[in-house]
Amino acid sequence: MTDLLIQNADVLLTMDDSRRELAGADILVKDGVIAKIGMQLDGGDCARCDARGKIVTPGLVNTHHHLYQTLTRAVPGAQDALLFGWLQRLYPIWARFGPEEMFISAQVGLAELALSGCTLTSDHLYLYPNGARLDDTIAAAQEVGLRFHATRGAMSIGESDGGLPPDALVEDEAAILSDCIRVIDAFHDPKPGAMVRVGVAPCSPFSVSRDLMRDAALLARDKSVMMHTHLAENDEDIAYSLEKFGCRPGQYAEDLGWTGDDVWHAHCVKLDAQEIDLFARSRTGVAHCPCSNCRLGSGIAPVRALRDAGVPVGLGVDGSASNDIGNLAAEARQAMLLQRVQNGADAMSAREALEIATRGGAQVLGRDDCGQIAVGKRADIAIWDARAVENAGSWDAAALLLAGPCKVDALFVEGRAVVRDGRLATIDLDRVIGRQNTLARKLAEA
Ligand SMILES: [Zn+2]
Repeated sequence: MTDLLIQNADVLLTMDDSRRELAGADILVKDGVIAKIGMQLDGGDCARCDARGKIVTPGLVNTHHHLYQTLTRAVPGAQDALLFGWLQRLYPIWARFGPEEMFISAQVGLAELALSGCTLTSDHLYLYPNGARLDDTIAAAQEVGLRFHATRGAMSIGESDGGLPPDALVEDEAAILSDCIRVIDAFHDPKPGAMVRVGVAPCSPFSVSRDLMRDAALLARDKSVMMHTHLAENDEDIAYSLEKFGCRPGQYAEDLGWTGDDVWHAHCVKLDAQEIDLFARSRTGVAHCPCSNCRLGSGIAPVRALRDAGVPVGLGVDGSASNDIGNLAAEARQAMLLQRVQNGADAMSAREALEIATRGGAQVLGRDDCGQIAVGKRADIAIWDARAVENAGSWDAAALLLAGPCKVDALFVEGRAVVRDGRLATIDLDRVIGRQNTLARKLAEA
């Protein structure tokens, strides 16, 4: 495999166990792994990347997304709605998607993430209309070159059973479980350095049955894969849980096997002190999605309290129908700002936000091989141009989140270039954007 030498970084923010920050350092990559970090390393005849004038960080990790939603950004009627109304506006549009919509929208979302420094992303795909399959998004990720934690989502309670989604978008529960087994067997790679992993991810407590939540957890544990869902997103969500299940979301999750270090929940805006304690004790992870929470008016997640209690927290851009931007660097900045709104200017530093965006996310996704620049870790590396206009005049590398830039100059995954000179190096992005816009117009005209 290609060896690589990244040379003379102005600042290298390693996010390693001692959070070292090095000036003028080199990184030598062999077989997709960081082999050496130091000054003036000898790379022999390997490929070189000149990082003079650049800030080098671990690749960012995105723990929650619905890539398919890049095809429904800024949809009129969904721009100003609360969560449940927003879903009801969008469900009929999503019901017209098929395999090509899933593939192209995923490539757009993945490219957008890559340009914002993301090297590892999860995706939560919970609807499979017109022959769409999880396979479509995995194929998209393999072409773009990002490390991918796909999750096989699902909805099973349609309108006629008192659920929120239209009946056309829900699936039979036995079929859901058997497709989970199919995609795990076909794609899940448990080994260190895996480029594709698969998780099990019923959409939310309000779109699947109690039985499916329990069975999904049993299946995931039987297969040794991770589990993901939405939890405690806003006040409506809490009210629904109290009314339908007679308990708060944390209790519901615990009763059905949905706590543990193999589980991560998106949002968790409304977790109370007891639930935070439950998550801390059980090492249950949280995907914090600050922009989506702002966009849908859901509230500010208690990230300071979660982190102080020891809960693993990563960041998520969430789907592009509720953000509607998929820029993970901007998401890290927003996470920092929201904690300051809630708790004061000293509540979260730029460096802590970057830590959540890198090693925090890797921990949430069960990836101790990613999320930091250290010898033996995978070579997932983001390089930011400190000569960019947003960074001009900055005194410290904290400017990366306090100021910018929020797009990378170069990005390496497993030592391979995904972004070079600020452009996607793996796919013809202009062609993909053209196709995406054609598909969006068709959906709008239907
Ligand atoms: Zn979501």
